[in-house]
Amino acid sequence: MPGPYVVPVHGDEDLPKTCDVVVIGGGIIGCATALELAERGLRVVLCEKGGIGQEQSSRNWGWVRISMRDPREVPLMAESLRMWDGLDARTGRDTGFRRAGIIFTCADEKELADHDRWRSNLQGYQIDTRMLSAREFSDLFPGSNLTMAGALHAAADGRAEPQRVAPAMAEAARDKGATILTECAVRGIELSGGAISGVVTERGSIACQAVVLAGGAWSSLFSGRFGIDLPQLKVMNSVIRTKPLAGGPEETIWARDFAIRKRQDGGYTVASGYDNIVDIVPASFRHARDFLPALRCEWKSLSFRLGGRFLEEARMSRHWPLDEASPFEYDRVLDPVPSKKGQDKAMADLKAAFPVFAKAEIAQRWAGYIDVTPDAVPVISAVEAIPGFHIATGFSGHGFGIGPAAGRLMADIVTGRAPIVDPAAFRFSRFSDGSKIELISGV
Ligand SMILES: Cc1cc2nc3c(=O)[nH]c(=O)nc-3n(C[C@H](O)[C@H](O)[C@H](O)COP(=O)(O)OP(=O)(O)OC[C@H]3O[C@@H](n4cnc5c(N)ncnc54)[C@H](O)[C@@H]3O)c2cc1C
Repeated sequence: MPGPYVVPVHGDEDLPKTCDVVVIGGGIIGCATALELAERGLRVVLCEKGGIGQEQSSRNWGWVRISMRDPREVPLMAESLRMWDGLDARTGRDTGFRRAGIIFTCADEKELADHDRWRSNLQGYQIDTRMLSAREFSDLFPGSNLTMAGALHAAADGRAEPQRVAPAMAEAARDKGATILTECAVRGIELSGGAISGVVTERGSIACQAVVLAGGAWSSLFSGRFGIDLPQLKVMNSVIRTKPLAGGPEETIWARDFAIRKRQDGGYTVASGYDNIVDIVPASFRHARDFLPALRCEWKSLSFRLGGRFLEEARMSRHWPLDEASPFEYDRVLDPVPSKKGQDKAMADLKAAFPVFAKAEIAQRWAGYIDVTPDAVPVISAVEAIPGFHIATGFSGHGFGIGPAAGRLMADIVTGRAPIVDPAAFRFSRFSDGSKIELISGV
C-alpha cells in the first residue's frame, strides 16, 4: 500500500566523520530541529532510515491548530502558529500554509460547554476563537445537513501540506550547511565517559557531542537498546485523499463522524478522529501500566486488534549488535494497511452531512501509525542519564502543527539558549520522578 506522494529529497552521498549534532529521524520534528541548529551555525547531520517525511509527517491530516489542544501545549503552539506564517519565506519553499480556520462541531450541549470552557486556555493570547450557534454554522455552510448543538471556530488556525513540509525544512537545513542522509539508519549511540561521543549508522560512525532522537514511532525501540525506558505506543489512523472538488468548505472541520481538510490541489483529506486502531504488540504489555489511565479516558475512540503486527514486533530484536543490520534497516517506511471500513463510513457520513461531497472521487487511501505517550504530551528534553543525548518524540497525533516550535525548543535545549517556552511539561524525567502522569482532555 504506497503512502502519499512526498516531495523527494535526495540524500547526500558522503558520510561526515564528525559533526556537532546528529539528528535521528527525518520527520517534521527532526527536520525542524536540524534547520534550527543549522541556522545557528552548528554542524548538523540528519540521518533518516527511509526517505524524508515518509512516516507520520506526510501521512497526517495537515491540521495546524491551537484549538482544543492540551493546555500544556498551548504556549508552544502559539509560538508555532507565528512560525508557520514565516515558514515559506524561511525555507524558500511552498508549504501550503494558510490560516483558513478550523471548526470543531459539538454534537450536544455538554460538548458545547466543554469547548467553550476550553477557550479560557487562550487567555492572554491574541488568538481569535468564538462559539458558533447551530444557526450560525448553517449560515456559513448553507449546503450542510449536519445537526449539532453549535461549534468552536478558531479563525487563527491553519492548514498545510504534509507531503511538502518536512522536505522543505530538510532542504532549507541543507541550504544552511546541514548534511541530509537518507536510507541511513542509526543503529545506536557511542559513549565516552558516559556521555555521547558519536553514533553508529549503517554506513559507518559519526563522532559528535550531541544526539537528538526524533525517531517518531521507533524512538522507544531505539532508546530501549541502551536502557532508556521511553513509554510509547502506536495508534493507527486511516486517511482518504479525494480528487479536486468544487464548492466544498474552505475551513477545516471536525465532526463526530468525520474530519476534513481542503488540500492545496482542491481535493480533501478525509478521515475520522474516532477510527483509531491499536495493534496489540509486545510493547503493549511492557507499557500497559503507564498507559492504563489514558486508555480509560480514550477507549471510545480506540479499537484493539491482535494481528500480524504482534508477530512482526515480537520477531524484532531489541538488543542488536551495532555491526549488524538493525530493525530500522528491515522496515524503512512504516506503511500500515488502512481500515477501509472506517474510511468508507467516514466518507458516507461526510456525504450525508455535506451533499456537495456526493460527487467526491477517492484518489488514494493510506494509514499512519501515530506515536503516543501516556499523557499525550511529547518529550522535548535532554536525558539526564546520558549527557549529550536528547529526545524529541511522542507528539501523540499533534506533532505536525507544533513541529516548527518543537524544533526550536529542542535546539534551545541542545545549545543552552533561553528556551522559547518553559520546557517543564515536556521533560523526559516526568515518567520516572514520581510526577503524576495525567491525560488532560484535548483532541
Ligand atoms: C493519520 C495521522 C493524522 C495526523 N494528523 C495530524 C494533524 O492534522 N495535525 C498535527 O499536528 N499532527 C497530526 N498527526 C501527528 C503528526 O503527523 C506527528 O505528530 C508528527 O508527524 C510526528 O513527527 P516526527 O518527526 O516525530 O515523526 P515521523 O514523521 O514519524 O518521523 C520519524 C522518522 O524517524 C525515522 N527513524 C526512526 N528511527 C530511525 C533510526 N534509527 N535511524 C534513522 N531514522 C529513523 C523514521 O523513518 C521516520 O521517518 C497525525 C498523524 C497521523 C499518522
